[in-house]
Amino acid sequence: RSLTAMEAEGDDRAVEAALRPRSLDEVVGQTRVRDQLGLVLEAARRRGRAPDHVLLSGPPGLGKTTLAMIIAHEMNTPLRLTSGPAITHAGDLAAILSGLNEGDVLFVDEIHRMSRPAEEMLYMAMEDFRVDVVIGKGPGATAIPLEIPPFTLVGATTRAGLLPGPLRDRFGFTAHLEFYESADLDRIVHRSAGLLDVALTKEGSAEIASRSRGTPRIANRLLRRVRDFAQVRADGVVTHPVARAALELYEVDELGLDRLDRAVIDALCRRFGGGPVGVSTLAVAVGEERETVEEVAEPFLVRSGFLARTPRGRIATPAAWEHLGLTPPPMPVE
Ligand code: ADP
Repeated sequence: RSLTAMEAEGDDRAVEAALRPRSLDEVVGQTRVRDQLGLVLEAARRRGRAPDHVLLSGPPGLGKTTLAMIIAHEMNTPLRLTSGPAITHAGDLAAILSGLNEGDVLFVDEIHRMSRPAEEMLYMAMEDFRVDVVIGKGPGATAIPLEIPPFTLVGATTRAGLLPGPLRDRFGFTAHLEFYESADLDRIVHRSAGLLDVALTKEGSAEIASRSRGTPRIANRLLRRVRDFAQVRADGVVTHPVARAALELYEVDELGLDRLDRAVIDALCRRFGGGPVGVSTLAVAVGEERETVEEVAEPFLVRSGFLARTPRGRIATPAAWEHLGLTPPPMPVE
């Protein structure tokens, strides 16, 4: 299918996949991670061996899946995809592992959400390329050892700290993906606009980039929504005023905060007097899952200087109050 056909069918996931960089050279930004990973892969290629296991951490939409696909592509091997929540029993994992061929890349998204027994099986598989499959229950149970061909595990997690130490330690290479700078997002918007055949001006692209929460997935999504707006309400060209008007319609503010981001700081300031408040309480107040608040909204609010994590809970910074047009309370006198 062509990109235009996918778009016509409103297949957002397919469009997202089509916009993925295919090689390390096409990856925009993340220079350090790219250089380090490039070296790991090159060394493995020269030795003719599967590269060490790779752990990628960082908020959603920063390129973890993309990098996993690139690792497989650069090693010229197939990629097997699964996710932590899909592995509820050790048997699920044993089935996946036993189906691997030598050199395959196995991508486990949200690896921190795997079940405990599966996690323990994975330790052994990563280290010794072997697992014990337990057959039967109770006194009659037997463990059957199963050899697994050398493979490369690529794990992705929103926060490396969520992984138990023994699992984290078994990765030979760990990369933390940071939010992207506006200049990099600008390059991503231009690249995607080229692929999607969207006409946009420099200022239009810069406006989308600066409101993308430091996140390529959001940059690509906003580009498509702004393009819709340009086609329906303007002459199809994404100019600065078109981008501004469209982003206002989609409730993305000048700093890139979306509805959830604003709801979090709003609850924090108005309902909890600026905190400190526990993240679970905050999540209930905005009607969201705790994980969503903690792994999606918070990292960006912290990096934007609106929210701070303290041992006693989350607090709003003076900048958060000001962003909502409120007066910060006076600093407590110690
Ligand atoms: P994650 O797995 O971290 O949630 P993805 O790898 O699925 O994120 O990336 C989301 C989208 O963002 C992809 O469609 C991809 O096109 C784009 N993207 C991510 N990182 C980059 C990058 N460094 N350069 C260009 N596009 C990127």
